Amino acid sequence: MAALDPSAVVAVIGAGTMGRGIARVAAGAGHPVLIYDSYAAAVTDAIDETRRRLERDVDRGRLDAAAAGAIAARITPCSRLDAVAPATLVVEAIVEDLGVKIDVLRRVEAAVADTAILASNTSSLSITAIAAGLSRPGMVAGMHFFNPAPLMPLVEVVVGAESSEATIETLLDTARAWGKTPVRAASTPGFIVNRVARPFYGEGLRLLQEGVADPATIDAVVTGAGGFRMGPFTLLDLVGLDVNLDVSTSVYTQTYHDPRFAPNVIQRSLVDAGRLGRKSGHGFYDYSSGDGPPAAAPHEAVPLEGPVTVVGEPGHAAGLVDRLAAAGVGVERRDGEEAGFGVGDAFVVPTDGRPATAVAAAAPSHRNVVTLDLVRDWESATACAIAPAAQAAPAAVSAAAALIQAAGLDAHVVGDGPGLVLMRIVAQLASVAADAVTFGVAEPDAVDTAMRLGTNYPEGPLEWADRLGAVTVVTVLDNLRSFYGEDRYRAATLLRRAALAEAPVRTTGAS
Ligand code: NAD
Repeated sequence: MAALDPSAVVAVIGAGTMGRGIARVAAGAGHPVLIYDSYAAAVTDAIDETRRRLERDVDRGRLDAAAAGAIAARITPCSRLDAVAPATLVVEAIVEDLGVKIDVLRRVEAAVADTAILASNTSSLSITAIAAGLSRPGMVAGMHFFNPAPLMPLVEVVVGAESSEATIETLLDTARAWGKTPVRAASTPGFIVNRVARPFYGEGLRLLQEGVADPATIDAVVTGAGGFRMGPFTLLDLVGLDVNLDVSTSVYTQTYHDPRFAPNVIQRSLVDAGRLGRKSGHGFYDYSSGDGPPAAAPHEAVPLEGPVTVVGEPGHAAGLVDRLAAAGVGVERRDGEEAGFGVGDAFVVPTDGRPATAVAAAAPSHRNVVTLDLVRDWESATACAIAPAAQAAPAAVSAAAALIQAAGLDAHVVGDGPGLVLMRIVAQLASVAADAVTFGVAEPDAVDTAMRLGTNYPEGPLEWADRLGAVTVVTVLDNLRSFYGEDRYRAATLLRRAALAEAPVRTTGAS
């Protein structure tokens, strides 16, 4: 199957946020575009806005004036739904309501040729259920763009139970011809991105709920240690707490209450209070002063005193040794059963998912245990979380902070939660991503690509798990599960298989 020829007519139903962006993308790829909305003013507004944006692109030198004029001229408003009859591809981007979508697509189906493809931009509804309401379910699929559609490169092409292979291949090739990176996803709750991203918010919220750290600290660790562009609370405020809660609730309900996707009562109560994020002026952060989210307060600067001893193999914290060396801090090496960094009074242990207090209790010679969080890239990281055991002396916290600071990073002291902050989020993301592969939602590469392009993650969760090693990720999850006694932290089968085989997750296969 090849991409649709640029001469093929594309119709967009719904001229709201998404519809107008999709119309611009299709017109930009050379298609004549018809745009319809039941609210006529939305179409006029969409066309005006598209012209303004094209003019701005010309002013900024991104587009020449002739090309901008040609794109605008290719978009034709329709005042009646049956005017979409000449379309070879119809993309529906109307209200997120199954009954309304089926009703509108039935009328579209009656107007267009039998060979026309009907694509829905739904974020959360089942493509299979939409197709079941129509007479040509083989011609129906999802074409899930991300907001803003002209800028975001990812398109999830969603395969319903009855979607024909020809329909899917045409949409994949057409999305590529439109300059997008398509991934194939099965019609399952949340498809790839909205499913796999849930723990990013869910674990952040649990950390807040348990008092491990405040939102600013969690965000600072996720960005500074993890390389994410935004932490969960900044992102929740940007997306809208209500919009995000709807997606969480939808995925949770549709997975028959998989505890990994459970929405959080803190978010519910903020939504009830009208604290929806930036759009209402207040969410997790208060925007009334015009400033952005507040800065986190890392540990005050303390000098590193005495030598640093690296005991055993520090696993995921091996890069700290290089970062210390780059900062001129030499280390001594010594064998030992419990791997970590001896510094002053502290023994700093890279987290394996056990709370620091449990590590200290298991090794009485190391009362002053401080656990060290995951850092994605020790060379470029700017921050890291540490957590002291209940048994640890205050001087141990200062010594551990001094170690992190000597390497040039901010040290954020958090409560003694299992798996600290970043490791816990990444392990849960990897587990949910691995289950998405097992359950046939998508292939491993599609999952990683979708998360990098759809949510700007610095690394796909499965690539990340492979870099850490499945054994490390499973150990963290098993320790989280043992601490909480909750199925929420069960390790995905695929992760466990990879750990047993000591093989990469991405090539271990789903069966
Ligand atoms: P929106 O509210 O901005 O626009 C929806 C438009 O559909 C409105 O202009 C409305 O008048 C029109 N409409 C409603 N019922 C209609 C009908 N019966 N016939 C014709 N037009 C009708 O919504 P949106 O954010 O553009 O979302 C549209 C779809 O895209 C939804 O399915 C949503 O889940 C999905 N989506 C949204 C985003 C996002 O970030 N906003 C991202 C991906 C997918």
